[in-house]
Amino acid sequence: DCVAPVAVALDGADLPPGAGLPRGFGLPDEVFAHDGQITRRAVRATTLAALAPRSGEMLWDIGGGSGSISVEWCLNGGRAVTIEPRADRIANIAANIDAFGLAEQMRTIHGAAPTALAGLPPPDAIFVGGGASAALIDALPPARLVVNAVTLETEALLIDLHAARGGYLTRVALQEATPLGRMRGWTPARNVTQWSWP
Ligand code: SAH
Repeated sequence: DCVAPVAVALDGADLPPGAGLPRGFGLPDEVFAHDGQITRRAVRATTLAALAPRSGEMLWDIGGGSGSISVEWCLNGGRAVTIEPRADRIANIAANIDAFGLAEQMRTIHGAAPTALAGLPPPDAIFVGGGASAALIDALPPARLVVNAVTLETEALLIDLHAARGGYLTRVALQEATPLGRMRGWTPARNVTQWSWP
């Protein structure tokens, strides 16, 4: 399956950084340095499809976590600023920038939105994966917008935004096969509600 070529691309000593990586979305979670807070591959693929990267475009990735959204945006030709308040997660993002050879395209801001957004280069698209609030959404400059929610409070915000502004509102109920004793069973992930605009 697709784990093997990605692993080769990341580990192969003779390969330049990033060689052999696919342009599709939804790399395996395992290829990223992360602490469990990562947008899972199926949800990440949906998120990147909604963000719709084009060559040279700038993404603000608010609530970077592992930076996996920015990594896949940049592998598809974009540039990204990843905003994340936790130092341990900034370290994971930095490790992923290095492992994927994206130092030219991707940088981190250690801080919290909306304060940390001041002075950033204007975005073509904005992803909010953490820290969503009505005040934050209102403070964002005009850009394509995708917001993912796992809490009731943020989901309620997205329901209101969809009513007021339109766009697309979807909910992903993801289950992954995991070991269950000597057999396997479905492990459900938290539902992710996604609003994208326009
Ligand atoms: N999309 C990420 C996972 C995001 S988890 C990935 O694929 O790895 C949500 C993140 O939002 C957490 O790391 C949390 O620290 C961060 N966060 C919370 N409030 C924030 C704020 N106000 N500004 C920026 N990031 C915030």
